[in-house]
Amino acid sequence: MALTNNYLKGVYETVLKRNPNEPEFQQAVLEVLESFEPVVEQRPELEEKGIIDRIVEPERMVMFRVPWVDDNGKVQVNRGFRVQYNSAIGPYKGGLRFHPSVCASVIKFLGFEQCFKNSLTGLPMGGGKGGSDFDPKGKSDAEIMRFCQSFITELQRHIGQFTDVPAGDIGVGGREIGYMYGQYKRLNNEAVGVLTGKGLSFGGSLARTEATGYGLCYYTKEMLAYKGTSFEGKTVVISGSGNVAIYAAQKATELGAKVVTMSDSAGFIYDPNGINLDVMKDIKEVRRARIKEYADLVPGSTYTAGARPWNTVCDIALPCATQNELDENDAKALIANGCKFVAEGANMPSTPEAVAQFQANGVFFGPAKAANAGGVATSGLEMSQNSLRLSWSFEEVDERLHDIMVNIFKCCVESAEKYGHKDNLVMGANIGGFEKIADAMLAQGIV
Ligand code: GLU
Repeated sequence: MALTNNYLKGVYETVLKRNPNEPEFQQAVLEVLESFEPVVEQRPELEEKGIIDRIVEPERMVMFRVPWVDDNGKVQVNRGFRVQYNSAIGPYKGGLRFHPSVCASVIKFLGFEQCFKNSLTGLPMGGGKGGSDFDPKGKSDAEIMRFCQSFITELQRHIGQFTDVPAGDIGVGGREIGYMYGQYKRLNNEAVGVLTGKGLSFGGSLARTEATGYGLCYYTKEMLAYKGTSFEGKTVVISGSGNVAIYAAQKATELGAKVVTMSDSAGFIYDPNGINLDVMKDIKEVRRARIKEYADLVPGSTYTAGARPWNTVCDIALPCATQNELDENDAKALIANGCKFVAEGANMPSTPEAVAQFQANGVFFGPAKAANAGGVATSGLEMSQNSLRLSWSFEEVDERLHDIMVNIFKCCVESAEKYGHKDNLVMGANIGGFEKIADAMLAQGIV
């Protein structure tokens, strides 16, 4: 699909000119602008007030040096980023990613998507994202701590509980948030909920670790129910083995499905009996080892090096690893193997060509902005608990998360239908997330 509306075409041309050599960012913007065609046609005030011109341009972006000393006494330098994308509906909110692929393009694509995702949760959170090209793989605990302390020593001047609240993403989990929180508190002499994903003993929320994976399954459950079916007896293919993948596998299994694959950057495992999550958690969460070991430990399972799991027979696919991990050929393989539902646990895991394949071949497709919003939604619940100085039970948080995911699905269906694109959840998610931000921007004047 190409842009036809002249206003949107002009905005996209400016984005291309202003952000050359940023393919991930350009991809994310184009996908969203395509969804806005019917909206800008029906709402001329969006063009009159420059809403789209403004929404594609981040309010602020910082880039900084992160110097640290490794275990051999050698000085290392990484690059840190934070994009504060849009604060129309609340403080900037979004994760930090530590991965060698992190660059301005990746941070901006993630920050842009985060705005719509956060809006969909119904909670008052603007969009932001950050991270570093630091590679946590193979680093000692002491190195991770020194890196986190250096990173937050610079970032702390830009964030705050009412300004910008970072959290985890790829390469940033409870351990890293703990080190960053400790250093933030030391520098600011304030115990406030400035980061989410904290440990349970210092303001973290129960169910935050599980939230993205659980939320993904709650959203998928709604997609299945909408088409008159359920997880019961279905075969599920999952990529990734971080906390999104692990807890999606756990919830899908609990809801009656069999999860047969998981992966890491080196390859994937296939277990026809359904993934043994105790073994998986021990490898990935406790020992931080490679997924390959699973095949040595669980009889009947196999490991395939250098490949992703998309060639596996399944009913449901949940890509939970990283951006652009599922391309057009992968989509064709899934379709040929009988897959009928795809919901994204990672951010932008399917290429635009893959999404087009799914939509043209009757696969019901749930986009990341909606399907993986459970993580940030529960971060929002962590912020609420911090402000209340209370902590809710696991069941209470999980129930709120469930309700939020059900509402997001409803919002996607209704927003798509309102603009004449019934059952197109991509359009529904983009439009549903956008309209609330647009209304807030319209009310707040040209800022
Ligand atoms: N990194 C997650 C995401 O992509 C969570 C962000 C957060 O909790 O702030 O939405």
